[in-house]
Amino acid sequence: MAMIKLEQVSKYYRSEETVSVGMKNISLSFELGEFVAVTGESGSGKSTLLNVISGLDGYEDGELFLFGEETSHYTISDWERYRGTYIGFVFQNYNIIDSYTVYQNVMLALEIQGYNRHERKKRALELIDKVGLTSHKNHKASKLSGGQKQRAVIARALAKDCPVIVADEPTGNLDSASAEQVMKLLHDIAKHKLVVVVTHDYEQVQAYATRKIKMHDGEVVEDKKIKKADIQTLKEVPTPKKLGVLNLFRFAIRNLLATPKKLLFLMIMQILVISVFTIVYTNQISQIREVGLEQSSVFPLVPETRVLIEKRDGSSFNASEIDYFESMRNVKAVYEHANNFYNESRIYVTKNNIFDYGRGRVVATDSAITLNQRDITGTLPKAVNEVVISSYYDFNVGETIKINYGDAYGWYQEGTETSIGTFLVTGIDNLDRETVYFSESFLNQPTSNEVMIDQSRLSRLEENIRYNTTILYDSNKIYIYIPDNYPLTVDLYIEGDGDRTVLSNQTITFYAYDVDYNEVEITLSNLTISEPEFYSYGVMLSEDAFSDLRDTYLLLLENQYLITPRQMISLSVDGYYAGNKVIDTVDSDLYKVYYPANISGSLRELQVFFLSFLAVILLTLFGLFLYSIVHAVTKNVMNARKKDFAIFRSIGANQSTLAQLVVLEQVMMSTIGFIITMLLITFLGSNITFLTADLQYMELKDYFILLGAFMAFGAWLGLRFNKKVFKQSVIETLSLSRGE
Ligand code: ADP
Ligand code: MG
Repeated sequence: MAMIKLEQVSKYYRSEETVSVGMKNISLSFELGEFVAVTGESGSGKSTLLNVISGLDGYEDGELFLFGEETSHYTISDWERYRGTYIGFVFQNYNIIDSYTVYQNVMLALEIQGYNRHERKKRALELIDKVGLTSHKNHKASKLSGGQKQRAVIARALAKDCPVIVADEPTGNLDSASAEQVMKLLHDIAKHKLVVVVTHDYEQVQAYATRKIKMHDGEVVEDKKIKKADIQTLKEVPTPKKLGVLNLFRFAIRNLLATPKKLLFLMIMQILVISVFTIVYTNQISQIREVGLEQSSVFPLVPETRVLIEKRDGSSFNASEIDYFESMRNVKAVYEHANNFYNESRIYVTKNNIFDYGRGRVVATDSAITLNQRDITGTLPKAVNEVVISSYYDFNVGETIKINYGDAYGWYQEGTETSIGTFLVTGIDNLDRETVYFSESFLNQPTSNEVMIDQSRLSRLEENIRYNTTILYDSNKIYIYIPDNYPLTVDLYIEGDGDRTVLSNQTITFYAYDVDYNEVEITLSNLTISEPEFYSYGVMLSEDAFSDLRDTYLLLLENQYLITPRQMISLSVDGYYAGNKVIDTVDSDLYKVYYPANISGSLRELQVFFLSFLAVILLTLFGLFLYSIVHAVTKNVMNARKKDFAIFRSIGANQSTLAQLVVLEQVMMSTIGFIITMLLITFLGSNITFLTADLQYMELKDYFILLGAFMAFGAWLGLRFNKKVFKQSVIETLSLSRGE
């Protein structure tokens, strides 16, 4: 039984307008052990014949038998298996992977064939030695001469121990000395194989050929035995094994490293794209998460760098508890006397007293350890009476200021403000945060246990009772007025122009508001009222009656402005992210945690939802835009590698394995790019102010989301390249690349 047998096989090439004959009605058979020379002028069909018998190209009419088996039903993977198992190729255009060394080229075939590690190495070195390239084994293929390349290709073709070697004009581009060497080599290895060599120069093979086939116009015009061939029977041939995941990884890494300059270029591009995308993502995330947070009105002076903790049973903290909080990962410092931060009253910076030019409301108070020296002019405060304040307040380093309580609106009434103290400005915060930064020694002072007055609330109440109190008359609420320039002879005077009646010992109900503008009723009895016939409005209260009213009112609402000192500690943290981490970590059965910067409102969830929705759209579009750039650049690189992939296939790698390889390479690129970018951001990020602020919102899951997104993009790129790379058949790709 012939090994390869053609029966009336024809092959036509169809283009849009023309049909040309590749070969027609060919009937031939080939045996193991033959050395067949195929000759004929250019265009006579030699390559067509070779491609058909080696399964690189299909045919139309007739039947090709391989080992007696019909092939017309063969699928792509059948042909891949046939090529991979039986055929070794040598082409005119040295189908060698230029970016690989000689050794790697030979190794590749052995790896695809599934030889084990030890055997592989030995065999590769033997083969390289056999073709006389030992001294060049670590040279890149691109650096070899034509003859050396062709010998490397022959070593590679032999690597897989296949019974058939096909060589299409292997010496076509070689000088005669090299050509001689190559032909001799083919002959030397041909002992137990079928070798089919196409050549237009029959002289070159004359000495070795056992058979000569001459073609003309697609037909065989001569088929002659030259000398007796040593016909063999086919022994067991190792079939290529499926490439394992590990091998795929090795191939991917080798492919990436084989072209270091390209790798560097692509990597820099990936890193740029990934950093830009990550920064935009981080920025979006921080915006979304910040919207979910709102300043508390209960602790108006607490910035996002402070967390307040109180024990549920109201007791004070012991040393081991303080140690525990100090040891927490996100806690920078613990202050045992949280009240030193002045949490519950509004405070103001002034020159000397409230009427001086140069003053302002303080938005928050904090510890100076949260400051960066580079953000301030001057020095950080050390002594108890030293502070850093914002340039917003118009003071300079070295000036003395007062820090006072004021009322809730920034309106001062003489005598209502009390001073926290007089301070020396040691530094000005250039970032203009309207925050007063105290020294450690100030914040660590013990605080008194006396009940304190919340001046801002008290002044708000005083204002309410003075200006917003009404009485009910004639089913109208009429505001009272306290004249201070003409004393009243009665307690309450109601203006009118009728007859005046003075009523004594009356009880009157006043309607006032508390701090939250809830109405409170206050009755005063024994009032003397001058009551005319009323029909116009105007109610005046005497100064004495008003002070009774105010005392009653303030006594009633005592709990709204008196502060019993709370046993609270204050933790310094880096910002929102750390603050929220602390909330999550602290045992909420034992402790109450106040993170005033983090109180959320009701509309926020909706807002957060919309922001997230927009961010997803924006990020997707932006991502696609960036990746179209990556795609355009990588495409050119991939196009240049089409030939390499055709070679991979011609030596037995199947298409699905290579498809996986392409995807794997891209995914690896983006993963490595991501890791490098993250390292860069981690090391450089702390020096870039806008990034540090945003980064604290990032959670572990965000990094995984980003990594997942980049890997998916990589895979998608790989899949797109697959379409390109494998659109053409092996032989189309190889013959097209001949022109290059
Ligand atoms: P040879 O190798 O002997 O030079 P080929 O087998 O390459 O000849 O070509 C045989 C005939 O088939 C020629 O007429 C050639 O023009 C045609 N042919 C070969 N390959 C193609 C192709 N891919 N498309 C169209 N025609 C082709
Ligand atoms: Mg040809």
